[in-house]
Amino acid sequence: MLLRHTPTEIKERSALSINPAKTCQPIGAMYAALGVKGCLPHSHGSQGCCAYHRSTLTRHYKEPVMAATSSFTEGSSVFGGQSNLVQAIDNIFTIYNPEVIAVHTTCLSETIGDDLTQITRKAHEEGKVPAGKHIIYASTPSYVGSHVTGFANMVKGMVNCLSEKTEVKNGKMNIIPGYVEPSDMEEIKRIASEMGISTIMFPDTSNVLNGPQTGRYHMFPRGGVSVEDLKSTGDSMATIALGKTASSAAALALETKCGVKCDILDLPIGLHGTDRYVDALRKMACVSVPDSINRDRGQLVDVITDMHQYFYGKKVAIAGDPDQLIALTEFLVSIDMYPVHVVTGTPGKQFEKTILDLTKHLPVKVNVKSHSDLFMLHQWIKNEPVDLLIANTYGKYIARDEDIPFIRYGFPILDRVGHSYFPTVGYKGGLRLVEKILDAILERKDRDAPEENFELVM
Ligand code: SF4
Repeated sequence: MLLRHTPTEIKERSALSINPAKTCQPIGAMYAALGVKGCLPHSHGSQGCCAYHRSTLTRHYKEPVMAATSSFTEGSSVFGGQSNLVQAIDNIFTIYNPEVIAVHTTCLSETIGDDLTQITRKAHEEGKVPAGKHIIYASTPSYVGSHVTGFANMVKGMVNCLSEKTEVKNGKMNIIPGYVEPSDMEEIKRIASEMGISTIMFPDTSNVLNGPQTGRYHMFPRGGVSVEDLKSTGDSMATIALGKTASSAAALALETKCGVKCDILDLPIGLHGTDRYVDALRKMACVSVPDSINRDRGQLVDVITDMHQYFYGKKVAIAGDPDQLIALTEFLVSIDMYPVHVVTGTPGKQFEKTILDLTKHLPVKVNVKSHSDLFMLHQWIKNEPVDLLIANTYGKYIARDEDIPFIRYGFPILDRVGHSYFPTVGYKGGLRLVEKILDAILERKDRDAPEENFELVM
């Protein structure tokens, strides 16, 4: 009963977060950078920030996450971190020999006004960047935004720093997968390849943060989008950007820089979200949908139909990242569940309106708030109890306190595995989500059923 002091009475709060529903921008920037082949992320700030970013990613993915830091001292905090960063770039290329260094700022380096464009130019001028090597960078102050905006900024940085347009088209489709798991990126690519489409996915953390145990340590795992492919994104036929918050900035920057048209979609979570993704691929690449994809879809429809009685009318509270919550809300509504409390820690004006639009025909009142926290979610649950809670690991304290069936979903998940290996996007991912929801609901039904209703077949 760790959260037993959460009061039922809700008071207006603007200057205080309690149990945040987000992490800091550089964590997303670091995650995006890990999806580039041969890339070493670099945190321009103090060692403490970098240690927090790395450890959060390591605890979520259960993989070692390498990153360098400018190691600010009191002196650099006052006089600026330029010399630290130029020296770091020199050391990193000399000692670790990455293909790319991806620099992101922190609260401190942003506050003192370090200018990454100017500092990286100086590093180039001073010959600290060997021929054929690259630096990409993004501004990621954490007193605004969240890990999702940090991710978006770094993906946009890839476009700004590397994408090129030549006169020769590459015949490929760009896919920006959004802030999703490595397993999701794999599934998003698999669907496109099943349709016979060549893709450049950026970033791509599959085989970086969910690779196999080989008995050998690779500082730069084999996965990730290559620099050549990133340069070539300017010559692709089109871009599909999945998740507005995480992916639209890069897609629009590429459209402006190289004239590559983009289609910005919600994440392909659940039936309709995946339908729209498959349909966009079909139209943009002028291909037809193969039987294998239709079969996957049919299986998902079948399971939803078979088990509909257990979903119908169940109230759900969800917390997480905006792109996931929008897609998840649509999915829950489509299977006749009621997402009654929806909270994201990421700021954004459109989020609340989108959720209210998706839920407007439900026969229940829906609470939704962006830039909010898990304390708010807990208060709402106290006033209007739910049948299921879907949130990252931190949701388990609310679930325990209120005795609610709980599904871990989102970022970070620190106390379970599976998220890096099993997708929740696409039709196959939809099946996994449905399985998780059913497991949680039926598990509770088994626990609470009187003996005469304790059933073997449900
Ligand atoms: S100081 Fe800012 S960048 Fe550093 S860990 Fe804290 S929130 Fe993140």
